[in-house]
Amino acid sequence: MSATLAALVADLAAGRLRVVDLTQPLGPATPVIELPPIFGASPPYSEEVISRYDAQGPGWYWKTIHLGEHTGTHFDAPVHWVTGKDLPNNTTDTIPVERFIGPACVIDVTAECVLDPDYLLEPEHILAWEATHGRIPAGAWVLLQTGWSKRSDPAEFFNADENGPHTPGFSKAASELLAYERDILGVGVETVGTDAGQAGGFDPPFPNHTIMHGAGKFGLASLTNLDQLPPTGAIVIAAPLKIVDGSGSPVRVLAITE
Ligand code: MN
Repeated sequence: MSATLAALVADLAAGRLRVVDLTQPLGPATPVIELPPIFGASPPYSEEVISRYDAQGPGWYWKTIHLGEHTGTHFDAPVHWVTGKDLPNNTTDTIPVERFIGPACVIDVTAECVLDPDYLLEPEHILAWEATHGRIPAGAWVLLQTGWSKRSDPAEFFNADENGPHTPGFSKAASELLAYERDILGVGVETVGTDAGQAGGFDPPFPNHTIMHGAGKFGLASLTNLDQLPPTGAIVIAAPLKIVDGSGSPVRVLAITE
């Protein structure tokens, strides 16, 4: 075994490294994004039991599940957005698997989001974070820590009024900086999607999806436990199901950290 892998095994066994689950539970209560009614809707998660040690299967338990690709803690592939539709290896089954693993850069804007639920990360905030923690490396997962995963009530999670949802996200310029100048793997958020709640009205609409996926980058939505990670130093593993021609997938996101 390589020294690196041997050290990983030893450090995990000794508790010098630990695995943090960045994933929300997936079930009928999982909140699903709501779009204006003119658009197609992603269904809520549903399930039925095939057998549970009964006449349908006396020795075994299993279920059928029904859900959209973008349900709960999930992965957005570049093909999810029209800007990424013609890129090579843009689907869940064709993305090179090395790209599912990368160092985490956690940008904590929780305090800002308490004051402003429509908070947008701007380039100046990224540069200020880098002045303290160092430049975001190529191939990093950039995780926006907003505290939003603490909102267990769906009404508070979506935080919608007559003008639509009010949840934080990234400005167009911040998305461009991360995609083009830092060459990250993608962004991860605690909210239901990688764009801000009001982003349907931005120019362009949904700028994070538009820019990230157009640049072949990924998204991770509905993350939790980001407050258990250091700003730098953790590694994130986020591997979607190998759905053929998949636009995304529910995913178990794990972080390995000191
Ligand atoms: Mn999605």
